[in-house]
Amino acid sequence: MVAIVARYARWLHTRWPAGTVEPLPEVREDGTTNVPGVYVAGDLTGIPLLKFSLDTGAKAVERIAADLASRPGGAGATRADDPPTLDLVIVGAGVAGMAAALEAKGRGLSYAILEATEPFSTLVNFPKRKPIYTYPKAMRPAGQLRVTADLKESLLDELRAQTNAAGIRPRPVRAERIERKGDALLVHVADGAPLCARRVLVAIGRSGNFRMLGVPGEDLEKVSNRLHDPKDFAGKEVLVVGGGDSALEASIALAQSGARVTISYRKPGFARPKPENVEMLEALRRDPMAPITLEHPTSERVTTAAGPFLGGTHPPGRVTLRLGTQVKAIEPERVLLTGAGGQEEALPNDAVFTMIGREAPLEFFRRSGIRIAGEMRPGAWVAMGAFLLFCAWLYNWKSGGSMSALFQARGWFPFTLPAMLASAGGEIAAAAADPRTLLGTLAISAAGPSFWYTLAYSLIVVIFGVRRIRRRKTPYVTAQTISLMCVQVLPLFLLPEVILPLLGTHGLLPKGIADALFPAVTYGHGREYWRAYGLILAWPLNVYNIFTHEPLWWWIGIGFLQTCVLIPLGIYFFGKGVYCGWICSCGALAETFGDTHRHKMPHGPKWNRLNMAGQGVLAIAILLLVMRVVGWILPDGNWADAIFDPVLKTHYKWVVDVFLAGVVGYGVYFWYSGRFWCRFFCPLAALMHVYARFSRFAIVSEKKKCISCNVCTSVCHQGIDVMSFANKGVPMQDPECVRCSACVQSCPTGVLTFGQVDRGGRTIALDLLPASPVQMREGAASSTRS
Ligand SMILES: Cc1cc2nc3c(=O)[nH]c(=O)nc-3n(C[C@H](O)[C@H](O)[C@H](O)COP(=O)(O)OP(=O)(O)OC[C@H]3O[C@@H](n4cnc5c(N)ncnc54)[C@H](O)[C@@H]3O)c2cc1C
Ligand code: SF4
Ligand code: SF4
Repeated sequence: MVAIVARYARWLHTRWPAGTVEPLPEVREDGTTNVPGVYVAGDLTGIPLLKFSLDTGAKAVERIAADLASRPGGAGATRADDPPTLDLVIVGAGVAGMAAALEAKGRGLSYAILEATEPFSTLVNFPKRKPIYTYPKAMRPAGQLRVTADLKESLLDELRAQTNAAGIRPRPVRAERIERKGDALLVHVADGAPLCARRVLVAIGRSGNFRMLGVPGEDLEKVSNRLHDPKDFAGKEVLVVGGGDSALEASIALAQSGARVTISYRKPGFARPKPENVEMLEALRRDPMAPITLEHPTSERVTTAAGPFLGGTHPPGRVTLRLGTQVKAIEPERVLLTGAGGQEEALPNDAVFTMIGREAPLEFFRRSGIRIAGEMRPGAWVAMGAFLLFCAWLYNWKSGGSMSALFQARGWFPFTLPAMLASAGGEIAAAAADPRTLLGTLAISAAGPSFWYTLAYSLIVVIFGVRRIRRRKTPYVTAQTISLMCVQVLPLFLLPEVILPLLGTHGLLPKGIADALFPAVTYGHGREYWRAYGLILAWPLNVYNIFTHEPLWWWIGIGFLQTCVLIPLGIYFFGKGVYCGWICSCGALAETFGDTHRHKMPHGPKWNRLNMAGQGVLAIAILLLVMRVVGWILPDGNWADAIFDPVLKTHYKWVVDVFLAGVVGYGVYFWYSGRFWCRFFCPLAALMHVYARFSRFAIVSEKKKCISCNVCTSVCHQGIDVMSFANKGVPMQDPECVRCSACVQSCPTGVLTFGQVDRGGRTIALDLLPASPVQMREGAASSTRS
């Protein structure tokens, strides 16, 4: 049984890549952070490309200058401070810091720029004659600093020429941390007195710290995390630790130079490196003399190109794989590896390269009190706990629980609304008492909590939907958001609360249809108009039109059509997002209100396993359906009712609809993104994942444009590792995708496009609605040129 479930889980969810996202400081769209006066620019704002770094550096100073000018004293105002307070201190003299310095100088701000190693050090460390890609081609960054060169050396020449001409002189000192003191900021440096500033711009790039193995012997001289000259290792026993591009490129360069390389990687296979690197490695393993060339290593840690082994004083090198192993210890003449089963192996060894990734320079931010995205501090846990409690109260009140009963018993709003309107007297009281008027209809609908909940929900979707359209600016997002707003406001609010009751009281609803869809009751509007939610919310997201005492045949027909015909058909062509991203009310809130929280969805293999939780909820819904049908069929179905009603009304409703969808789904919104319920627990999504495994929908990618920046993965609020598909040029077909378009829209080089593929993965159609601003700009630029 366990094996069957494991195979099913693999078929559905765990087969997909599950790379994680590098933590970065929490930076708002305008470059500000949680520490007042501290801004961040460059790579650390998310997109690791030269033009974006220039752009964010110059724009941050534009904002800082405007901000300072609007305060008493203004920018550059002379003060008799001791030590003198500068308008701005810029930390880091990379492209972002230098663009900021030029802008500060041009705007007459008093500033200092600090550099720990040497100006443009990241570019200085690029491999010799590295080609430079200045994506996006049509982008003109803000500010004065320009990049046009296509080789590392000429890039450095042009940048140095521009900054020297402008007289920018970085101070050679490492900044240690920032401290807020009253209105000013102190920048503590490694040697010397702190600098005092009114604003600080942090532009220290991502190079950060290389990750450590944390094993004995790691501090030996033979252990390194960069490869400069592979020829030094000819004829030597070398261990390379890691499974990414850095590890593979280092191994290829070393083996081609005559080293005997062993690769130790903790996983059983390579998942993330570029396929061409894996192919080159395999070719070398088959034939150490293979005519392959690693002309342009993409890893910043492998600074030398390598070509086929040309012979010399040593025999050719070789590569051996030790997948599924971990380094236990490094000794002067050997290394100890441990296998997955705990067995140990000692290998002779002359040198070790640890290529196991690097961490953004987060310690600087932590020391300065700047929040790291996704890091839960005690304050965040307390805030989330308090919000969960509020959601527990809200959903109890809205769903007819004890809070609702309390409000009713005490005669609190909204239960008192009809009485309040009646006491107003005159025409208002008369209209409120007549259910054929709009006010009379509202007096009945609005006398319960769910009306106010749905009204607030719809308003939030519309307000934040308009903001999303303005923020994202693509035809895709505009059309999708309008669809979500319309569905929420019309069939999911106005139809059951206002339109149907008014039609009913005016006799405009044919009796046959009304009886079939909205059975008569003795309270409220006299009919169950709330069942109209079922026109949009399909079984098993909404179970209440199907799990009825007597079968409601029309709803059973509608439900069957939705769940078994229309949704699978839509998914076949357009993916699960056809419903989750364009129609569903949970999706509507997540795409609008949750638009700025998408990056908070956790990624990684453990979370991908939790995707299976929805299958459990779906299994329970199916079991209940079977019980319900049996109850209808058997001559005396009371036994089924006796079990079914308590299970549905007491357990399923409160556990699934109220607790999982309401309290948990919305309670973690600001900390784990708006799609927590959709991704992990929704039973309809769980069913749609199965349909989606047979879909033609895919996000196709133009592999050669992908710079492996991981932006697409980081913005996916379904936790999908989009980059692992994009940088291999493989169509993304993870069934979790809700077609939100965040990855397509955010990709800085326009790699991704919504489309359809055949069974062989060949593209057969592309979406007509543009979703990538880069592709839109490039399309416009090429049509202008032609
Ligand atoms: C191997 C490689 C290849 C690339 N190829 C391309 C390409 O072809 N095209 C492209 O557009 N982009 C490319 N990039 C990305 C590009 O280099 C970055 O986007 C850009 O350098 C980021 O600029 P930045 O100013 O944010 O950071 P950086 O350029 O990294 O500059 C940060 C500076 O801050 C300094 N610093 C760090 N900590 C401190 C401290 N505590 N105190 C003082 N100073 C500090 C550092 O020494 C450094 O000089 C590549 C990057 C790498 C690594
Ligand atoms: S469109 Fe992209 S970001 Fe959105 S869910 Fe799909 S893969 Fe994730
Ligand atoms: S596809 Fe993803 S990893 Fe590749 S460039 Fe675009 S955002 Fe970056």
